[in-house]
Amino acid sequence: MVNLILFGPPGSGKGTQSANIIQKYGLIHLSTGDLLRSEIGDKTPLGQEAKKFMDQGLLVPDEVVIGMISSKLDANPDARGFIFDGFPRTTAQAEALDKLLALKKTSISTVLSLEVPEDALIKRLLNRGLTSGRSDDASEDVVKARIVEYHNKTAPVADHYAKFGKFKKVKGDGTEEEVFELLSKELDELVGEKVQ
Ligand code: ADP
Repeated sequence: MVNLILFGPPGSGKGTQSANIIQKYGLIHLSTGDLLRSEIGDKTPLGQEAKKFMDQGLLVPDEVVIGMISSKLDANPDARGFIFDGFPRTTAQAEALDKLLALKKTSISTVLSLEVPEDALIKRLLNRGLTSGRSDDASEDVVKARIVEYHNKTAPVADHYAKFGKFKKVKGDGTEEEVFELLSKELDELVGEKVQ
């Protein structure tokens, strides 16, 4: 199996590039942000609880997102591999993910980190807020709170994987095509083309 973490701050392009990666390499996309928004849309108790945190730009509690990922891994026993987008976002989540994958006799293959300067991130997110309908993109205060959470809680996840030599930075502020080309360079050898 090939298990990829697409890493980077809010607005760095993880969702956009995940779509490109899935199409080319046939991995299963697990985005905790998308999963949480779908729970909110379905008005489940989990969604209603998560919304309180998301609306303030804060991370949702670890046990909530770890539980969601665990059930998605179980639901896809024949996957060729997974691309994790927006997860893990804390060191506790990274440790939990390592354990879940070890139970399945697999592990993280690599972490690719999209590097984008902070002023560009804020512009991208506020811009997305104009059309995405995402309330957490619409307010500059909430966008900034998410970036603070990223620095405090998520940035340390980089060290967790760097320790195992699994962390690689990719320049993320080019065009969508340029960034995908850089990601493809890393992935071609690792994943190979999609098996039809
Ligand atoms: P972005 O990367 O643009 O912030 P996401 O869709 O990945 O967008 O996440 C939106 C919100 O969902 C986050 O601000 C956070 O509240 C919540 N969230 C998503 N993934 C996680 C996670 N792994 N752990 C905790 N909270 C999460």
